[in-house]
Amino acid sequence: MKIAVIGLGYVGLTTAACLASRGFKVTGIDIDKHKVETINEGKTPFKEPRLDKLLKRSGLRCSTDYAEAVDADFVFISVGTPAGPGGEIDLSYVAGAARSLGEVLASRRKPCTVVVRSTVVPGTTRGLVKNELEKSSGKRVGEDLFLCVNPEFLREGNAVHDTFNPDRIVIGDDWGSGGKNLLRLYHRFYRRRKPATILTNTVNAEMIKYASNAFLAARISLINEIANICQHIPGADVTVVSKAIGLDKRIGPYFLNAGLGYGGSCFPKDVKALIKYAEKLGETPRVLEAVDNVNMMQPLKAVELAEKLLGSLRGKTAAILGLAFKPNTDDIREAVSLKIIKTLLEKGCTVKAYDPAAIENARKVFGDTVSYAPSAEECLRDADFCIVATEWEEFRRLGPDDFRKLMREPVVVDGRRIYDPERFMEKVEFAAVGLGL
Ligand code: NAD
Repeated sequence: MKIAVIGLGYVGLTTAACLASRGFKVTGIDIDKHKVETINEGKTPFKEPRLDKLLKRSGLRCSTDYAEAVDADFVFISVGTPAGPGGEIDLSYVAGAARSLGEVLASRRKPCTVVVRSTVVPGTTRGLVKNELEKSSGKRVGEDLFLCVNPEFLREGNAVHDTFNPDRIVIGDDWGSGGKNLLRLYHRFYRRRKPATILTNTVNAEMIKYASNAFLAARISLINEIANICQHIPGADVTVVSKAIGLDKRIGPYFLNAGLGYGGSCFPKDVKALIKYAEKLGETPRVLEAVDNVNMMQPLKAVELAEKLLGSLRGKTAAILGLAFKPNTDDIREAVSLKIIKTLLEKGCTVKAYDPAAIENARKVFGDTVSYAPSAEECLRDADFCIVATEWEEFRRLGPDDFRKLMREPVVVDGRRIYDPERFMEKVEFAAVGLGL
C-alpha cells in the first residue's frame, strides 16, 4: 500500500516515519526544500524523542515534487494551519496543498483517498478542500476520488508514542468510502491493538478536534486562575488543591498542573480560531475568551513574583531556565518564555537563558539581546534571580544548594511547580505560581 504525506512538520513527519516503519511505502512531500534535504539525509529537522531513530530505519523518501504522490493509495494532508492576523484560522496552506495535489491527481486513473490531518474549522473538508481538489483534478469526490478528515491528537514531545498508541481515532467522511478505506489502513497499521474509533461526518470530526483542545486549554486556564487566587492566601498551595480535586472521578487528575500557561503551536491558535469561528456564526464564546485571556496574562505572573521578591528588576540579571513551550521539544512557538523574556528586557534586565533543546530557535527570535548558557549551572552563575519557565527533567534535579552556590542572589521563581517549597524556602528566596506567601 502506497502512502504520501504532504507537509512534513511535527505531525506529518511523525506520521510518515511511523507508517514507513511498519512496512508501508511512504513518500513525504513538503514545499520547504531545506527540510526535504535534511530528512533525506536521515536527519530530523526538529527535535522529537525517538523520531531520529525511527526515521533512519524507516526508508522514508521525501520530495518537493507533488508528482511523487501521484500513485499513492492514500494522501495525508498535514500542512500548517496557523492563526491569521486577527486570530482566525489561516487555511491558505491547506488550500495550496489541496490544489497542488489535485493537479497531479488529474492524470490518475485509479481513485485515491485524500485524508485531511491538519486541524481545520468545521466545514473546511466538505467546502474548501473538496472544492480545490475537484477544481484542479477535474474529478468528483465520492466518485473518482475519496476524501475524509482524520484529526491528529498527538502531543509534541511524545509524538511517536502517541502515534503508535492513540487514545482514539476520529474519522469524518460525508461520502461513504474514504473513511472506510482509512479504517482498513489503520487496522493493518495497529494490528491487534485497535484504538477506539469514531466514524462520523466531516463537521463532527473537525469539531471534535477543536472541542478537545478547548477543553484541555480551559482546564489549564481554570487551574491557573485558582492558582492566582491561592497566591493571595497565606499557607495556600495550588498543588495540594489540584491533587485533591483530581481524585474526584468526575474531574480526573490530568491537565491540572498550575503554571505559567499553555503555549505551543496548537492550543493558543486553536482556541483563538474557535473564538473567531464562533463569532462568525453569531455566537459570543465567553468561556473561550476567558480561557484565552487568562492564558495571555499568565506568563507575566512569573515577572510579578520576581518583583515581589526583589522590588525593581532594572539592572538585574535574570536566569531563565527553559525556552521550549514544553519539555522534550525544541518548539518555541507561543512559548511562555518568549513573553517573559520580552517583558524582562523591557524592564531593563540582562537576560541569560538555558534550554536543553531550544536555544537555536530562541536565538532566531532574540538574537544577541539575550545570552545563552551551555548548561543550567552556567545560566544560574552570578544571576540575581531565576525563573523556571519549562519543566525539563534536568531542572527538577537542581536542589536549593545549587541555586545558593551559583547565583549572586539566590532568588527563585518556580513557574512550573517543580520544587518542594519547604525545602527551597529554607535556603533560598522562593516564590511559586499558586503558592500563598
Ligand atoms: P508544522 O508547521 O510543523 O509543519 C507544517 C509543514 O507543512 C511545514 O513543513 C511546511 O513547510 C509544510 N507546508 C506548508 N504548505 C505546504 C504545501 N502547500 N505543500 C507541502 N507542504 C507544505 O505543523 P505541525 O505542527 O506539524 O501541524 C500540522 C497540522 O497539524 C496543523 O493543522 C496543526 O494544528 C495540527 N496539529 C499539530 C499538532 C502538534 O503538536 N504540532 C498536534 C495535532 C495537530
